[in-house]
Amino acid sequence: MVAHILDGKKIADSMLRSVKREVATMKRKGVIPKLVVIQVGNDPASTIYVNRKHKTCIELGMKSEVRRFPSSVSYGRILGEIRELNEDKTVHGILVQLPLPEHLNHKKVLETVAISKDVDGLHPYNHGRNLLAKSGMRPATPTGIITLLESTGAKLEGKNAVVVGRSNIVGKPVAVMLLNKGCTVTICHSKTTDLGRFTKDADIIVCAVGKPNLIKGPMVKKGAIVIDVGISRLKDGKLSGDVDFKEVSKRASWITPVPGGVGPMTIASLMCNTIAACRDIEWPQKSG
Ligand code: NAD
Repeated sequence: MVAHILDGKKIADSMLRSVKREVATMKRKGVIPKLVVIQVGNDPASTIYVNRKHKTCIELGMKSEVRRFPSSVSYGRILGEIRELNEDKTVHGILVQLPLPEHLNHKKVLETVAISKDVDGLHPYNHGRNLLAKSGMRPATPTGIITLLESTGAKLEGKNAVVVGRSNIVGKPVAVMLLNKGCTVTICHSKTTDLGRFTKDADIIVCAVGKPNLIKGPMVKKGAIVIDVGISRLKDGKLSGDVDFKEVSKRASWITPVPGGVGPMTIASLMCNTIAACRDIEWPQKSG
């Protein structure tokens, strides 16, 4: 068996085309969706992600602003900045780029973002709505993963899904979303003993760890759908996912490449969240 490639770039491009059309319609009505990204420090990977988000907003005709602060910025200054953006009616989405430096309490920072502008879906209220299967902002990467899975045409209900990684950004929310889709979900993490025992039974594997080649061919059931979220920079400068693509693509029915799989879907889902936040603010009766 040779796996079909789950082309995140292609699906994301089509999502972005439809976002662009909606932005044009909003503009004609006098509203321009605006995203503000807050970056603290100058972590090179974060800078790449932030610049990519900014560039995409501009390409779609949206407004975008990046507010950069030195790592030494005070906790009070960041909270003040977010509170100001919460009140600013021209701003529809606020995203705090993670990770934040140690001295900033990232949980408190994320809780300060207005729920209606939480386009990264990381406010505890929005996590709670996900848990309760209620509508609300969902984190971008898990949303992109579900869109990728659904694009295969496979029925998710009743499938055994194994999520590797339990972060608040990817692992936990995507596990909840799969549960809400009717999957039987197992969450594996750094303390799991014998990872392969779990992955071998999975119809769906979502791996979000950040360790190249963690998932090897024999750990994957024939015909499984494999979503590789991990991104690591190898010594030769190339990007690698968590999945041994060469081995696993001989067993899986579908597999995401790295790059070009989950990454573009994350950006596209963030853009969808931003225009949804704009829609909800301007026409509150449409939210729900
Ligand atoms: P994280 O460091 O917060 O979490 C990593 C998780 O992996 C932890 O829950 C840990 O328990 C688990 N883990 C560590 N070693 C393990 C092992 N040997 N076996 C099983 N589980 C193990 O990271 P994160 O923010 O969730 O991101 C995970 C990866 O996904 C990173 O490589 C990150 O760069 C990537 N990522 C990609 C996108 C994207 O858009 N493509 C978005 C977010 C994160």
